[in-house]
Amino acid sequence: MVPAQSLKSPTSNTRSFNNTVAQLRSNLKNGSVPAEEFPGPAARVFDQLVHEASGGSSAEEISWELRVVKGLTGNAFSLPDGAVYVDDEMVQLLGNDPGLWAAILAHEIVHVTQHHWTKRAIFQESLRDSHESWRFVQLGAFPAELTSSTPADQEHELADFSQDLELEADVGSLSLMARSGFHPDFVTALYHLMETQEGDSGAAHFLASHPRWDVRESHLRKRYSAALAEFEKLWPDPANSPGGNPPVLAFVGRPKAEFGSHHTSAEVSLPIRCENSSGGVEVVLLLRGFRAPDLPPSEQTRKIRQTIDCTSNRTSASFVLSATGPRNEADVEFYVLDSRGWVLARSSKLRVRY
Ligand SMILES: [Zn+2]
Repeated sequence: MVPAQSLKSPTSNTRSFNNTVAQLRSNLKNGSVPAEEFPGPAARVFDQLVHEASGGSSAEEISWELRVVKGLTGNAFSLPDGAVYVDDEMVQLLGNDPGLWAAILAHEIVHVTQHHWTKRAIFQESLRDSHESWRFVQLGAFPAELTSSTPADQEHELADFSQDLELEADVGSLSLMARSGFHPDFVTALYHLMETQEGDSGAAHFLASHPRWDVRESHLRKRYSAALAEFEKLWPDPANSPGGNPPVLAFVGRPKAEFGSHHTSAEVSLPIRCENSSGGVEVVLLLRGFRAPDLPPSEQTRKIRQTIDCTSNRTSASFVLSATGPRNEADVEFYVLDSRGWVLARSSKLRVRY
């Protein structure tokens, strides 16, 4: 659906660069629809962020637009001229939550306002002066058709440079969100949500071109306090901010198992820490590949649920699995859900034999 394009460097030929971007944007019009046509807060949130990012005036070369593309499997990306695209899977995932929308859209808007395309193109040009033509390369989660075909070592340097731009977009998005009335914790909430999708859906495509979530999260922590102070100064009552109260965040440690005498039972537990929570969260223990004597294959996957209070700084959830005979085993994995049933965190897997 997205055509491969060759773009000349913006430094050597600005007009050609702009023309090709315009062509790309025009091509992307087919097969995408304006975000206004979708129910939900995306279009409104986009307008709020753009208004704040451009200080109320619009720069001549930027023509902001948010469109939904079908079939890019969990992608979000932007063009240098202000077109931002999300795919319909992402629309499903972010749903009605303005704060999560702000987190993903602010990131893309910062790519545009900080001219990341151009910076990346200049960097790439410096790497490969000897090559006369090159492809416009991947920025963020841009479709695979547009990835570059540079030699491996240049590819590596370019990837590092791009990841720095991603971290820069994250940092910029925190401040933009705070000024626009979206609590900075929505960025962390988005990271957690995307992380829980890893390996399960197309959101993995978005992840592939970005630094790992834990890297982004720890990088962000350094700038978080400043953004939070800015938000609290402007929006003393978060309930009245455009994004509403900060989202519940759950942070999980490694699951572990302890065994009863003679291994007739196993207690599997997960350390959990919540933020912004004033009540309970649901913890789901998922058992996969569950094997026990005489168990039919249809029962090899099980879910066990419990609600725990997650208002203290440190808590844990534990489940006792009783053996139904010799040699029981299963892969266990924990999911933490909020009151709406949204996944807040997912643990690593643990193989348990008892
Ligand atoms: Zn990005």
